[in-house]
Amino acid sequence: MKQTNISVFVPHYGCPHRCTFCDQRSISGTQAPPAAEEVSALLDGQAGHLRETDTRAEIAFFGGSFTGIDENYMRSLLAAARDAVRKYPDIYTGIRCSTRPDFINSRILGILEEYGMTAVELGAQSMDPEVLRLNERGHSPEDVERAAAMIREHGFSLGLQMMTGLYGDKPEYCIKTAERFIAMKADTVRIYPTVILEGTRLGELYKAGKYKTFTFDETIDICAKLLRMFDAAGIPVIRLGLHASEEVEAKMLGGVYHPALREITESRIFFEDMLSEMKRLGGTRFIVCTDPKNISKVSGQKKENRRKLGELGYRFDIKGEKGTRLRIYALQNT
Ligand code: SF4
Repeated sequence: MKQTNISVFVPHYGCPHRCTFCDQRSISGTQAPPAAEEVSALLDGQAGHLRETDTRAEIAFFGGSFTGIDENYMRSLLAAARDAVRKYPDIYTGIRCSTRPDFINSRILGILEEYGMTAVELGAQSMDPEVLRLNERGHSPEDVERAAAMIREHGFSLGLQMMTGLYGDKPEYCIKTAERFIAMKADTVRIYPTVILEGTRLGELYKAGKYKTFTFDETIDICAKLLRMFDAAGIPVIRLGLHASEEVEAKMLGGVYHPALREITESRIFFEDMLSEMKRLGGTRFIVCTDPKNISKVSGQKKENRRKLGELGYRFDIKGEKGTRLRIYALQNT
């Protein structure tokens, strides 16, 4: 049984905020908000295909800040989702949304409960107060903690989203953010390296030479550390990097965007683990055993791990071994 999300993009018209990275204003003329009838039609239409492919799905309201939109409109979308869950209980397993920490209170959570919402994700972006201020988020780290606690108290699954490389960000702030996410007992996390888009405040700062984000390599390095931290805490990272999108590609001025960002990051983790184990074992030639699904990550994109380890004097052959993450044998030098 496969699991997926049916995403409904809800642009946030009239958002009172102006987060530096957000292009809501520039897209508001091009993306119409979906009507409840359209959401019902989408969910009816997808149900058959999902059943045929033995897939279950969550209905996900993403985009702006779902709980900040007009209440009647929000209720109409929620009713469409709730009706689909009732109509196709074998297909739709729940409803999730993303929102801002300061658009969460008891009354709002009560409404979400009424319609059977199962998971609420908070765009926290950073837990560093200065990064939040510089990026004009309009909320504090404590607001994130307060909202997270309320979401958990109401029994929803708690999702937390962070960005790396915002204006004023540093790798150590990202680590601190992850530590606080873990302390908040997030059920899921999403990590988004900053993409600088035309039509945003970050875009202006970037063009004026006042801001540059982390490099690609720095981003992979920090994301590898973050993945390790969340993995050790047992928190699934359900997304790393923006989804591939022609719109993002057309509007991107800078920053880090790659359709295979997660694969590259996991590959970096394999590189670090292989290097450390090869150093520990000693020698120059090795057999690396791993599950067949990991082989491309062990080799690295365009065989980068093989090349980098080779430059350090380590050569290896890969052997597929089902169920093994990484096991390395040193060969006798001949
Ligand atoms: S990121 Fe969310 S809160 Fe910030 S400007 Fe965009 S829609 Fe508004």
